[in-house]
Amino acid sequence: MTIHNNIDIKKYTTFGVTATAKRLVEYESVDDLRRYFASNPPSEGFYVIGGGSNILFSGNYHGTLLHPVSKGISVVSDDKHGITVRAEAGEVWDDFVGRCVAGGWYGLENLSFIPGTVGASAVQNIGAYGAEAKDFIESVEVYDPLSDSCRVLTNDQCAFGYRTSIFKQKRHLIVVAVSYRLCRTFTPHLGYANLRERVEAAGTPTALSVRQTVTAVRSEKLPDPAVTGSGGSFFKNPVVDAGLADRLSALYPQMPRYDADGGVKIPAGWLIEQAGWKGYRHGDAGVYPKQALVLVNYGSATGKEVADLAARVAEDVKMKFGIELVPEIIIL
Ligand SMILES: Cc1cc2nc3c(=O)[nH]c(=O)nc-3n(C[C@H](O)[C@H](O)[C@H](O)COP(=O)(O)OP(=O)(O)OC[C@H]3O[C@@H](n4cnc5c(N)ncnc54)[C@H](O)[C@@H]3O)c2cc1C
Repeated sequence: MTIHNNIDIKKYTTFGVTATAKRLVEYESVDDLRRYFASNPPSEGFYVIGGGSNILFSGNYHGTLLHPVSKGISVVSDDKHGITVRAEAGEVWDDFVGRCVAGGWYGLENLSFIPGTVGASAVQNIGAYGAEAKDFIESVEVYDPLSDSCRVLTNDQCAFGYRTSIFKQKRHLIVVAVSYRLCRTFTPHLGYANLRERVEAAGTPTALSVRQTVTAVRSEKLPDPAVTGSGGSFFKNPVVDAGLADRLSALYPQMPRYDADGGVKIPAGWLIEQAGWKGYRHGDAGVYPKQALVLVNYGSATGKEVADLAARVAEDVKMKFGIELVPEIIIL
């Protein structure tokens, strides 16, 4: 365990904004967490940060950040129905997906190249190209510092939803490992036309070709955090009632819309682009020119400047379409 006091946390987030944290604790195991909480009770407050790829610090952080650096991937069970693979929370998500594809453990290919850690994959219920982490998570191991105990939550107990889970409400639960149930037989899931066309152009789909194509498409479309700071999609795609969706469709016949639980889902990126924000830049804070849903830091934007820009975008979308955009990014 390593404890840093008054540390510059720029390199701990993909937005790359300058900020400091009062304390950042890098821990490798539950034993480390136990030792830490023995002298720093959880009532003092803490926040877990994985790869920091969904977090924007709008200023200095005056509390304690816990950062998992635990590593390890192991097969828990392997039978004719499938294989269960357990990964420590601190594993880099895309390394884990790469290991699964190489091992012939199929299912996660569509989730290739999403930044962040394995622990956060369960917290966020990450998703892309028609797949979500919840489709494959068997169980999640957590440490609860309030009771100093470990528990295993089944998939059902995790209350997964769109980019959410029980861990978003029960903030004291620290994910220590996630077990994924994967298949021995590869079945391509190519519901997205642009992905299907590119995968099929390369020959008969394999897990590796899907992974490589997803990686290539994402690299073309999304900023590389090593070059341009971002947190991926800044807002969630809103779900609105059918009446509002119909009124907007009458005004904008080209508006994409998808049936969803509780109404109609409209891509937030389309709304932002339609409102004229795509490619907008103020100082070093901007709306990514290739994807309006992504807000970026071109170099020296502060977290507050990015957060202010997000607020202006959301306000404008609300005024033009009557739709409230809710951030997917966690602003601290
Ligand atoms: C370029 C880019 C593209 C992206 N594309 C996608 C995409 O296609 N699909 C998608 O779903 N997301 C996407 N994201 C968002 C991001 O990659 C995911 O949300 C990812 O799961 C965040 O992982 P992280 O380790 O960085 O978590 P962080 O950003 O560090 O944390 C996210 C949340 O999880 C909590 N958390 C993290 N680890 C733990 C733990 N061990 N225990 C308890 N709580 C924890 C944090 O407290 C926080 O609430 C993208 C981001 C970027 C920068």
